[in-house]
Amino acid sequence: MSSTVNTVSSSTQGFDGVLARWEPVIGLEVHCQLKTESKLFCACKTSFGALANQNTCPVCLGLPGVLPVLNHQAVDYAIRMALAIGAEIRPKSSFSRKQYFYPDLPKGYQITQYDLPYCENGALVLDSGKKITIQRIHMEEDAGKNIHGDASSYVDLNRAGIPLLEIVSAPDLSSPTEAHEYLRKLRSIVRYLEISDGNMEEGSIRCDCNVSLRKRGTAAFGTRTEIKNVNSFKNVERAITYEIFRQADLLDHGEKIKQVTLLFDAASGKTQVMRSKEDSPDYRYFPEPDLGTVFIDSQRSEHVRSQLPELPEQKRFRFQADYGIAAADAYQLTEEKELALFFESVVQKIDSKVSPKIVANWILSEYLREHNARQWSWPSDLVSVETFSSLLRLLGEEVISGKIAKMVFDQMAEKGGNPETIVHENGWVQISDTSEIEAVARKIIEENPDQVAAYLGGKQKVFGFFVGQVLKVSQGRFNPNLVNECLRKLLHGS
Ligand SMILES: [Zn+2]
Repeated sequence: MSSTVNTVSSSTQGFDGVLARWEPVIGLEVHCQLKTESKLFCACKTSFGALANQNTCPVCLGLPGVLPVLNHQAVDYAIRMALAIGAEIRPKSSFSRKQYFYPDLPKGYQITQYDLPYCENGALVLDSGKKITIQRIHMEEDAGKNIHGDASSYVDLNRAGIPLLEIVSAPDLSSPTEAHEYLRKLRSIVRYLEISDGNMEEGSIRCDCNVSLRKRGTAAFGTRTEIKNVNSFKNVERAITYEIFRQADLLDHGEKIKQVTLLFDAASGKTQVMRSKEDSPDYRYFPEPDLGTVFIDSQRSEHVRSQLPELPEQKRFRFQADYGIAAADAYQLTEEKELALFFESVVQKIDSKVSPKIVANWILSEYLREHNARQWSWPSDLVSVETFSSLLRLLGEEVISGKIAKMVFDQMAEKGGNPETIVHENGWVQISDTSEIEAVARKIIEENPDQVAAYLGGKQKVFGFFVGQVLKVSQGRFNPNLVNECLRKLLHGS
């Protein structure tokens, strides 16, 4: 059924060479699993990790004589998404049957929205300012899962009937990087809205990529291929990049692109043909007779709108304006809702003893490094908003130096604890006694006459050497500002 496509020789010309001649035209279809308590048309639980076929009932098993009932929570979640991307909501939409046979689909059809999706014409703006149109979003149910063992295959229908949103972009994306950014933004939005956990690796977000090439400067679209079910941000970029190379190679050799559906093999980094256009199924959609019209009047959408949280982009601009932090930092801090909340809670707790900019630096470097390496949850049990704020307050009040603060943080990350206690137990309080600093500084100057001569001869860099030596003697406990001041005075006085 599948065969590997031609090996790709364009890769020798480099990606930029390909892009100079060919313009990629990319559209994404993203399936996003909604985290409702129950399924789209029955009361079965949606919880992950249940025993196989535990979360099933006659409705999602597709037994005869049962009727689906639409889950209103799922519709409210769908409305949240539509509002977040500024889409037009259709007051009357409907469901259809998409018919095909597959073992994980016992009904023989999937209930989805076809000609009348609940929303259309939204958009998402990339950092470059480029607007990516979202043509439509529709609600549909997920299928089950086939599990292939050594001798037998099994079907688990726990997933059958779980609500999905299919989010369809216009072919407005022009590079693998843009596709990646678009997906990250989508994920960030669904997480902020709390309608999906947005985990690509666990299949909560799955992505089909439509890719074609056209000659630079021309308007007509080339023939497109579709890469099905790519399951990570990285693989979306890799799959699209591979497909661009593959198509460019064929076109450069005067060959035609065949309209095929592909699978991306993450191990080899290549796409494989799954089926050609001729074998693509005719789904014979028809209106679902067991479900009525879905009415979404303005009163309902306004009610949902009133409950919308601040979205990542709004939060980013507010962080820049309110806290004076750089655009790149604000972007990083607001991508995950929990991270943004952590930052803002720390800033409020510190109460202007430390600038928000320093808080941002500490969170984005020290805190995130440990958070990622140790796979902390939000908030971490070891380093809480309270203890992290206390640490930065000690730094801001010059009780400890930046170097000591990092040592304290390392201990907190390792085994938790209160920073004040850690500082006192280790005797790490910063020394601001000028006579003690001066005595050490004098000694260092006396011991290094050559360096003194070099510094006085104009070698400004040597100053750093003196600072380093004095701080070393104090094991990082001397107040660095006072050390600087004292050395300058002594050197210029000597
Ligand atoms: Zn069920």
